[in-house]
Amino acid sequence: MQLKSSDLIESCSPFFTPNYHPANFVLSHGSGSYLYDMEGKEYLDFSSGIAVNNLGHCHPRIVEAIKDQTSKLLHCSNLFWNFPAMKLAKRLCELSFADQVLFLNSGSEANEAALKLARKYFFDQGKPRSKVLAFEGGFHGRTMGSLSATAKKAFREPFGPLVPGFEFAKFNDESAISKIDKTFAAVILEPVQGEAGVYPADEEFVRNLRKRCNETSTLLIMDCIQTGMYRTDCLFGYESFGIEPDIITLSKALGGGLPLGAMLTKKEIGNSFNVGAHGTTFGGNPVAAAAANAVLDVLTDNRFDDERRRLVHDFGKIVYEKISKLPKVKSLRLKGLMLGIDLDVEDITPVFRKIRDNGILVTRIAPRSLRVLPPLIAAERELHFFADGLSTVLN
Ligand code: PLP
Repeated sequence: MQLKSSDLIESCSPFFTPNYHPANFVLSHGSGSYLYDMEGKEYLDFSSGIAVNNLGHCHPRIVEAIKDQTSKLLHCSNLFWNFPAMKLAKRLCELSFADQVLFLNSGSEANEAALKLARKYFFDQGKPRSKVLAFEGGFHGRTMGSLSATAKKAFREPFGPLVPGFEFAKFNDESAISKIDKTFAAVILEPVQGEAGVYPADEEFVRNLRKRCNETSTLLIMDCIQTGMYRTDCLFGYESFGIEPDIITLSKALGGGLPLGAMLTKKEIGNSFNVGAHGTTFGGNPVAAAAANAVLDVLTDNRFDDERRRLVHDFGKIVYEKISKLPKVKSLRLKGLMLGIDLDVEDITPVFRKIRDNGILVTRIAPRSLRVLPPLIAAERELHFFADGLSTVLN
């Protein structure tokens, strides 16, 4: 007998803590830009697993790399070297400002590591600094440290007391710069505030932050977890600003769909993580690292890059020619393949559900915004399908 999504949800959902509110269907498989539920309904996935499936679903190069690695070595811990992680660390350094990499399992964990490293770096100099400046609207994760750097009251309030030493400033506001002094170990920000609704950092603001961090020897951490792997117009989100941060964090699309986080830094700073200073059992897992190497193989291929640039161009054109003119579209913000749309509606939920019922997946940001994250492999006709689908709902 064929199992039905609704029966499965009814019988199994009581076994989950209720902190998520998944869609009312069960996924069976994915391919390219599409997801399919158990009833065979097709969805154009412009949520990309919240910026994870940048290469779409089950990209053959990623699947192949995972299959190959699973027959060789699944796990070995950091007591031993494994080749996929070694290769990946070297490549990430060659492709970025960094000299050293620490592998973790998630974005939150990568940020935890970055925040701990910043404090340890000053501790080692005999001049401890514990303060961290973060930004209103920023999101850095749900673990105690990364949550302490996340401003949103609803996320923080039930879990106090959080880690002391965190202060917040207005994003893209010069008043933040003058707050930074020699008591701050680090400043942490996203190149584009994704969870807040796609708010890009201003170039001048980031440059001034860099300058002030240099003056006060404060470390600049750029959380490129959502903006990494060409989600915006460059491989790592920080590259748009023409500056070098001291630490960046990566996750989401890095593992091509497997859990993987990374913290990248300069060796003068990274050396503070001496033997035993930090660690995690699964960090640098060979299968996740093999998947990430396949992601980099694709992303750094010149032909792929030409297509990606064309896609970014086409998406921008469609956004301005079609989407910006739709009824109820109040404002929008676009950076590469990240789009935030504010709607002139009381509540986004019915709109969001209707879009989904029409076979298109995006994410919603309460109370009135949508976040659209097309995969980097989307075809032009899929961009039009999305714009036309949105038009049908909003009209
Ligand atoms: N940082 C940013 C910018 C994010 O968007 C997220 C997740 O959405 C995180 C950190 C947390 O990552 P994770 O959910 O993997 O812990």
